[in-house]
Amino acid sequence: MPRRVGSAGSVLVSANNSSTLLSAKPLVVVLIGPGGVGKGTITRRLLDLNSRLWLSRSWTTRAPRESEVGDEYYFVSRAEFEAAIAANQFLEWAEFHGNLYGTPKPSLDEPRDLLLEIEVQGAQQVRAQDAEAVVILILPPSLAVLEERLRGRGDSQDHVSLRLVSSATELAIGHELADFVVTNDDIERVTGEILSILESLRVSRGNIS
Ligand code: 5GP
Repeated sequence: MPRRVGSAGSVLVSANNSSTLLSAKPLVVVLIGPGGVGKGTITRRLLDLNSRLWLSRSWTTRAPRESEVGDEYYFVSRAEFEAAIAANQFLEWAEFHGNLYGTPKPSLDEPRDLLLEIEVQGAQQVRAQDAEAVVILILPPSLAVLEERLRGRGDSQDHVSLRLVSSATELAIGHELADFVVTNDDIERVTGEILSILESLRVSRGNIS
């Protein structure tokens, strides 16, 4: 069963935690949740607030959105992606709505905690390889809010409908897989909650140096 961590039960950490202390064994933190739930915004805020975290840049065969500046992913062709699969270069990869997405294998020399923002098939693969990976499911405050956020991204109506349908799967598998479940009702609150979870884990796993 996932642990639900509310603000009342959270360990407080400074909102502008800029600690450079590094983990003995870096955490692998996997953020999952339906498209449009705000994973990207939460990820950027976590990176701004906590220098112990680094984000793996994924590969995708999806075309860039108009709103994207180009550094969100390595945008590659299907042939390039398939060559990387054949060369065993991914920690995990999955097909999502007809496009391939994958996390390159991280460098073993990286001492900071690894943050992954991926869909659930990929999260299942990470968990299968590393039982200690921490999976955090992000929920929308409501399905209506999720739909509104998806429309606001400029995707086509068909795409929005497709993503809403797959939200159900993402949520069902996500609940099975997650160690922690948080709600993105407010960016600062949910980011603080996630940082509290990570700080508690670092303490309980002895990752304070
Ligand atoms: P989008 O096309 O909206 O950027 O991403 C679609 C979904 O793919 C999102 O749920 C996102 O978290 C997920 N995703 C992004 N990068 C990866 C990755 O490297 N691996 C997997 N499995 N999913 C990813």
